[in-house]
Amino acid sequence: MSDLPEDHPSDAERKMQFLYALRSKGVTDSLVLNAMEAIDRGPFIRGLFAGRAYEDMPLPIACGQTISQPSVVGLMTQALEISPRDKVLEIGTGSGYQAAILSKLARRVYTIDRHSRLVREARAIFEALDLANITAITADGSFGLPEQAPFDRIIVTAAAEDPPGPLLAQLKEGGIMVVPVGQSDAVQHLIRVRKSAQGLEYDELRAVRFVPLLEGLGKDT
Ligand code: SAH
Repeated sequence: MSDLPEDHPSDAERKMQFLYALRSKGVTDSLVLNAMEAIDRGPFIRGLFAGRAYEDMPLPIACGQTISQPSVVGLMTQALEISPRDKVLEIGTGSGYQAAILSKLARRVYTIDRHSRLVREARAIFEALDLANITAITADGSFGLPEQAPFDRIIVTAAAEDPPGPLLAQLKEGGIMVVPVGQSDAVQHLIRVRKSAQGLEYDELRAVRFVPLLEGLGKDT
């Protein structure tokens, strides 16, 4: 029996509720669930919204951006079918939460954001959590990261009107890319692209809502 009032659940209860919400929204891969259990979302959210880190909600972060909803992070991660030897590229570091989860599943993670402040803050969290296999870079991620290509997996966490050509080119044969596609203020669709010797195969996973993939570097706010 807990003597805590109901609106202040214990850490263990909060974690159980968090994982339950993920499962009920279709995140069923045990490796993904383990990674999401290992990475506490709390440190990735500062200020006003810090107390809501364990809700299945997107929340505002610095530079006018958002940390994605945990169940969407889980579904996108699951759709990538990551193997432990994989080299993964993420476009849209944001808070760093998605990259931290990827780092538990893959050998190497490169993550790019156009806001240097977000990259700097995410790096500090990766260091504090000892996530040594992530490299965070400030750049326009639409061009990918040619010097580290090709990638086994690519995840884009900002919406593009079409999957960016340079990213498709930097995907390995046998590779998978997950990307939200559509106008920023309209319904977007999460697309999974598989690259094989025969070409690219697309499937549509679900409707989502992401901030837009923008050109050039961002002004830090
Ligand atoms: N994956 C993040 C959420 C990303 S929000 C998380 O786990 O918190 C989308 C991010 O994409 C924003 O931080 C935004 O700055 C970034 N972004 C938008 N266009 C970009 C581009 N062309 N290159 C790199 N990052 C971009």
